[in-house]
Amino acid sequence: MTRESRVFHRHSVAAYPVAVAGDGPWLIDAEGRRYLDACGGAAVSCLGHSDTTVREAIKGQVDALAYAHSAFFTTRAAEDLADHLIDKAEALIPDNRLGKVYLVSGGSEAAEAALKLSRQYFLEIGEPQRHRIIARRQSYHGNTLGALSVGGNQWRREPFEPMLMPATHIAPCYPYRDRADGESETAYGERVADELDDTIRRLGPETVAAFIAEPVVGATMGAVPAVPGYLKRIREICDRHGVLLILDEVMCGMGRTGHLFACAEDGISPDILLIAKGLGAGYQPVGAMLCATRIHDAIRAGSGFFQHGHTYLGHVTACAGALAVQRRIEDGGLLDNVRTQGAALREALAAAFGAHPHVGDIRGRGLMLGLELVADRDSKAPFDPALKLNARVKREAMAQGLMCYPMGGTIDGRRGDHIMLAPPFILGPEHIAEIIGRLDLALAAAL
Ligand code: PLP
Repeated sequence: MTRESRVFHRHSVAAYPVAVAGDGPWLIDAEGRRYLDACGGAAVSCLGHSDTTVREAIKGQVDALAYAHSAFFTTRAAEDLADHLIDKAEALIPDNRLGKVYLVSGGSEAAEAALKLSRQYFLEIGEPQRHRIIARRQSYHGNTLGALSVGGNQWRREPFEPMLMPATHIAPCYPYRDRADGESETAYGERVADELDDTIRRLGPETVAAFIAEPVVGATMGAVPAVPGYLKRIREICDRHGVLLILDEVMCGMGRTGHLFACAEDGISPDILLIAKGLGAGYQPVGAMLCATRIHDAIRAGSGFFQHGHTYLGHVTACAGALAVQRRIEDGGLLDNVRTQGAALREALAAAFGAHPHVGDIRGRGLMLGLELVADRDSKAPFDPALKLNARVKREAMAQGLMCYPMGGTIDGRRGDHIMLAPPFILGPEHIAEIIGRLDLALAAAL
């Protein structure tokens, strides 16, 4: 661009290329340069950038009706999307509790709705003392103040700390760094899950409303799944104390792990499930909070009104787009491809970077994979934060025509650098070879 941009970009110093077109997993800028989207932006674009059926569905909806306020109308698209999601939850989630869908515009909105719904539920059933939220230090639930309060990313929280609501944070499930020598994965998972039990007892179970966690941690740590058994134990602990379990699958849900719902793979149903990014695949801004039937029934039998809402609730064009995305995933058998290509990408990463002196860990599920970058593999010592490695990796990857998602986070005062890969579900072997080759060049230039 020749004159200074008047768009308020988050990074004041960075000059962005101007994106003008999409072609499957590629984005194309105004100069005709092509970028392989190996991270879906932020794990959003799960169908790539030019899906015809989704585009047609959105155009058709806008031609018929673009918007109708949810205080006056429901719409066919919202009803059909909710039916689709609940049918899937009933079919796929063991002992599914989820029966209602609250449709919003994105992940942070879904998280805000869940926090308020948890509180209101206990008011409705006559337990007004339950208001506390427990979360994990390894977590991100959004950038609005409520979601930020329960999130555990210190860098994102720090400037706003005095404005955040109180929340209690417990240990993450982070085996690469926290599993003790000789400790089995199962024993480690039980140990960290039991911190929730201890914390609920310490705070007083009668004061705790909900526990919130990501089944696979994304934006703070680059694709860290909970160890097998951890979430089952968490489910039992929440039930023991009457605490609601909110699972945040905004990033890892809707097929990203190779399963429509990540929690189904862990064998549990939450009381509230948050989804967003892959729901609309970036074709429309959309998210949702799925909640247990009993929570909805408590409000119906009580005040009859969920005291929370936004102008774009159940936005009809967003719902039509999301429904088309979900049908495309189903009709195209794309979850099989996520599992197959996810395994292939992971193998290729291990072959290329498994012995790299600065890659400490390669992990993830399906097409949500992460590399942890370390200064020293043996000691797992992190890089100096002053290096701003995430910015360097991103810059070098973009120079190679590759979009990946590098991040730097701090947990319990420990710094870590990570790269997340979350390519579209339409990925093929030819794209995997491109990702590995370009990432290799980018890392060589950045490290
Ligand atoms: N929850 C999780 C797990 C996320 O990864 C994100 C975004 O990265 C959010 C919530 C917030 O979603 P949004 O950016 O759509 O508000």
